This record gives sequence, structure tokens and C-alpha cells, in this order.
Amino acid sequence: MSARASAASGCEMCGRPVGPRPENKGWPFCSPRCKQVDLGRWLNEEYRISRPLDETEQAEVLGDGRGESSDG
Ligand SMILES: [Zn+2]
Repeated sequence: MSARASAASGCEMCGRPVGPRPENKGWPFCSPRCKQVDLGRWLNEEYRISRPLDETEQAEVLGDGRGESSDG
């Protein structure tokens, strides 16, 4: 009945225990390999950002910097 949110319970990739930072070169993952996998995912996400906007997002984009122009 006790949930520790802040404390890392395990590797986000494989769920194995994560060693302390000084000796764990893959921190906050269990191993450098898992860290690499996460990094690869991040890079893939970067490329996949270009997607059609939702209606809400479009409204935000249009409403940002439009109409209100102050010269200072
Ligand atoms: Zn792992």
C-alpha cells in the first residue's frame, strides 16, 4: 500500500533494477544498451513530429501572434 513515485523502481525499458549512477553508465536505465534504445526512440520521434495538426492545435497556432501586434 505504499507507492514511491519519485524513486525509480526499475529500468523503463526492460524493468530490471537500475544500479546507482556512478557505476551505472546507462543511468537512469539499467544498462547503456537500454539507454541507447531510449535515445533511438527519441530521435525517431523527432522525425515523426511532422503530422497534421488537430483542430485544437490549429486554433492555438492561429491565435498565437496573430491580430495582436505591439510595436513596443
Ligand atoms: Zn533495461
